[in-house]
Amino acid sequence: MFMNSRTGWARTELEGLENEGRLIPIRTLEGPQGAWVTIEGKKVLNMCSNNYLGLANHPEVRKAAQRAIDEFGMGAGAVRSIAGTNSLHAKLEAVLAEFKHFDSSLVYQGGLLANLGSIPVLVGKEDVIFSEELNHASIIDGVRLSSARRVVYRHLDMDDLRRQLSEHRKEGRKALIITDGVFSMDGDIAPLPDIAKLGEEFDAMVYVDDAHGEGVLGDHGRGIVDHFHLTGKVDMEMGTFSKALGGMGGFVASDSGIIALMKQRSRPFLFSSALNPGDAASILRSLEIMKSDDSYLKKLWENARKLKEGLVESGYNLGDSKTPITPVMIGSEKLTLDLSRALYQESNVFASPIVFPTVARGSARIRLMPSAVHSDEDISYAVESFRKQGAKLGIIK
Ligand SMILES: *Cc1c(COP(=O)(O)O)cnc(C)c1O
Repeated sequence: MFMNSRTGWARTELEGLENEGRLIPIRTLEGPQGAWVTIEGKKVLNMCSNNYLGLANHPEVRKAAQRAIDEFGMGAGAVRSIAGTNSLHAKLEAVLAEFKHFDSSLVYQGGLLANLGSIPVLVGKEDVIFSEELNHASIIDGVRLSSARRVVYRHLDMDDLRRQLSEHRKEGRKALIITDGVFSMDGDIAPLPDIAKLGEEFDAMVYVDDAHGEGVLGDHGRGIVDHFHLTGKVDMEMGTFSKALGGMGGFVASDSGIIALMKQRSRPFLFSSALNPGDAASILRSLEIMKSDDSYLKKLWENARKLKEGLVESGYNLGDSKTPITPVMIGSEKLTLDLSRALYQESNVFASPIVFPTVARGSARIRLMPSAVHSDEDISYAVESFRKQGAKLGIIK
């Protein structure tokens, strides 16, 4: 083992995490994503991936990537701004803009990079950002990188956003309101129509992160802006290819001036190599499937409805989710870890615990992610297992 007096501190920190019950166990899947996955040689019901529509292992999506590798090779070879832009990137950007009903779009190598890369182009140190309290870590980091003044407003609280805008809007030359569309740990939805109105009233740009809305909300999964009929009223929609779209990458859609400026200034575009051809081609295929066939979307919502019904009937509290994201609220960190372990070991149900610091202390939960590839039997089995293990642990009667 490689260890010396200069790196030993890492082990001490890990022990601290372990003692506090906050050491995240990393499971290794021995095969593709799906309703059932193999971990340590054991088949378990997968209730915690973001593979909403089942596209991560769809035969046509796989084939599109394979074909693109044959035609374009494995790597993009350079950063986008030098020699890394190929016709698959260009096509994907055009198709995404059309799908999202925006002028233009820019593809990134991931959703996290899309946030880190685009927020600092939009605002700088003379500007002010109004950021939702429960925003995703990649937004928080993008806001930090921008050096703009940050004002945090309370979760879903439009009175508070108005108050903060009245008080602080003038402190910035430009202003940006930034929010998750669907909140990933709770499944509730930002009141985007009200946010858009406030943006107009206070002359603040509006940016929504649609990572969990894409493929889930709106006509054929077009996302949150379409869901609320806000085309033209939201300035930027950011998204990821790694959840419902089943692959890898991210993007920002906006007006063509903003996107053209991002190509001059956004650091992941200028300083990190482009998305691989296979990834770009697989997303193009995923989008075609979503546009031509909404049976996956319907099955996803049907499964979510059944799962929620069954769990509520069993006596569980599911918070205020309005989407397929199904948080089973437990509260205690220890009980949450115990329930997750019992589900895994005794019922072969893979459902990860979510504890501090991902969510506030005392609001630990197991977050379930139904998908279009779960069968009716899978959903019933998940509910039954929660009933059995929850009763054993005294969480429900
Ligand atoms: C997952 C997620 C991201 C990051 O997307 P990746 O493509 O996985 O990097 C960004 N924002 C939100 C809200 C997310 O849930």
